[in-house]
Amino acid sequence: MDNFMSLSIAAKSCNEAFARSVVAAFATPLNPTVDEINDIKTAVSEAVTNCIVHAYSKDESGIICIDARLDGNTIHIAISDKGVGIEDIIKARQPFYTTKGGDDERSGLGFTVMETFMDSLTVAPNGDKGVVVTMSKAINTEN
Ligand code: ATP
Ligand code: MG
Repeated sequence: MDNFMSLSIAAKSCNEAFARSVVAAFATPLNPTVDEINDIKTAVSEAVTNCIVHAYSKDESGIICIDARLDGNTIHIAISDKGVGIEDIIKARQPFYTTKGGDDERSGLGFTVMETFMDSLTVAPNGDKGVVVTMSKAINTEN
């Protein structure tokens, strides 16, 4: 293992920009392109937003954990919560599936975005409560 970091943050929307910037900064030793950095930021942002709006329903006392690891030229990221959890993960991952339509204006594309911008995505229960999203992305070694 080349490097790792671990971060716990309150489930506040102001922390979403903080979280994505921290992970992007952590990835800089891999010498990512601007596009690769933006992909990572967008994926982290979607996962953290899901914790805030779905896992904790905007209850800011919730805690979001972000773990990242550099392994060769690959960044592995795990974003976890201890919120309500997802009953049917396969259904939740379908494009346009959302449990918060209407006034909340969710489009149901968060997992699709994460999957598109990263090389791999897994969504799983986080022990007895909540969700853990893991994703990884290889950074082009020719950069
Ligand atoms: P968008 O991301 O486009 O704003 P969305 O958040 O509804 O809309 P996804 O991010 O793809 O879409 O998530 C799909 C569904 O999975 C959500 O509507 C929600 O029901 C569930 N979900 C996602 N993340 C979590 C989580 N951390 N805890 C509980 N439920 C979640
Ligand atoms: Mg979402």
